[in-house]
Amino acid sequence: MSEMFLEIRDVSKIYRTGGLIGSAKLAAVDRINLALSKGRPNILSIVGESGSGKTTLARMVMRLIRPTHGEIVIDGVSTSGRLSRAQMKEFRRRVQPIFQNPFESFSYRKTVDTYLFETAHNILGVRSKDAAHQAVDRALRNVGLSAERVIGRYPNQFSGGELQRVSVARAMIPNPELLVADEPVSMIDASLRMNVVNLFKALRDEFQVNILYITHDLSTAYYVSDLIAIMYRGNIVEYGPSSKILREPAHPYTELLLDSVAKIGVKWGEVVRLPDLETKEYGYVGCKFAARCPYAQPICRTTPPPRVHTADKREVLCFKLTDYQPVDAPAAQ
Ligand code: SF4
Repeated sequence: MSEMFLEIRDVSKIYRTGGLIGSAKLAAVDRINLALSKGRPNILSIVGESGSGKTTLARMVMRLIRPTHGEIVIDGVSTSGRLSRAQMKEFRRRVQPIFQNPFESFSYRKTVDTYLFETAHNILGVRSKDAAHQAVDRALRNVGLSAERVIGRYPNQFSGGELQRVSVARAMIPNPELLVADEPVSMIDASLRMNVVNLFKALRDEFQVNILYITHDLSTAYYVSDLIAIMYRGNIVEYGPSSKILREPAHPYTELLLDSVAKIGVKWGEVVRLPDLETKEYGYVGCKFAARCPYAQPICRTTPPPRVHTADKREVLCFKLTDYQPVDAPAAQ
């Protein structure tokens, strides 16, 4: 029996860009390995700016797209290929999505409880109306709502924060073991974001659910995560315990992200985004961050950086942490 609950094994997603002539391959996700063990559940944040590959990775975990290479394994069973009907049903029970925009998750023509009862019947598998009602009521209470407040109402009768709570309640009905939340607070009023983020912590602790939290928002990631993976152009450039990474970043890109968050009134997306470089960077032979990195050396442009395992249990994709001596470094005495 596997000791891991979730394993992302050497996963890539390659797209073709351009027309028939001059087309090129672009690795939106480039040979990623990540795992969540069984036992104590974790919130693993995948953090990156637009174009980092974080949403593509989440979509592969949710089986919305297939990896070009590698596999995603849940409790020892690969979920990346074809699944039988029974396996698919089990997958949907164990892994539940929460999407970015709650107003797009529900049709404006249907009352939101329609989705809750469908989940209770089709995924949890309850037969009777009473059992479905109990499951829905329980899930709503677990996210701080009630059946009286929710049943019979349409999406436009809720605030964004409330509707996202209904989405979380729907996802929790089948007692999943993994929630994949893709930018779940980015469309919500800033004042209500922490309510949803706090809800994730409570669900992890009370219901032992693992959460893959996909975000570009470093501040909520810092607050909520046990583990953080920082993505850049399809690679995980730094991975490990969130407190260590965000207090003492080891990768120059993480350093840049934290530095830009610290500047009052400046969103880091505005600081680091260089669109003209974007497509070129995916195709770099060496480090994809080399054109922006203040520590770059000639080797960084010609050779893929090594994945370095540090004593404090992180992984960093960079030459800076190796014995490699920069050309202009003073010779050791
Ligand atoms: S490998 Fe080189 S260019 Fe890339 S982040 Fe490290 S020091 Fe900078």
